[in-house]
Amino acid sequence: MDCLFCQIIAKKLPAKLVFESDSIIAFPDINPSARVHILIVPKKHIIGLQDLKKEDGELLSEIFEVVNELVTRYNLKDNLYRVVVNGGKAQHVSHIHFHLLGGELKKFV
Ligand code: AMP
Ligand code: ZN
Repeated sequence: MDCLFCQIIAKKLPAKLVFESDSIIAFPDINPSARVHILIVPKKHIIGLQDLKKEDGELLSEIFEVVNELVTRYNLKDNLYRVVVNGGKAQHVSHIHFHLLGGELKKFV
């Protein structure tokens, strides 16, 4: 499939995975906007927020479990962090992904 994140999921493109399960991967953003900037990506090719269905509910809760795990791992609980999902013209990769931004934010994504 001609999708950047599907190619990373298929290991056809490199990424330094910080988390992987049957349904989710996470890896650092190549152009970080904060000291910690991780992309959390479901393996299922869902284009964007507007395409989520009721049946994706379990996947969404798994995504936020991964967020929690990474918040703990990167010591962000007592620091600042933010989860961002871009959509429409603000979204550049058409495979849904959750930006976890933490520590010093360099710019708004
Ligand atoms: P968005 O604008 O929300 O679609 O964000 C896409 C993000 O993917 C941007 O922050 C990019 O820096 C990031 N990105 C693009 N290509 C790669 C890649 N090969 N590995 C890691 N992050 C990437
Ligand atoms: Zn994809």
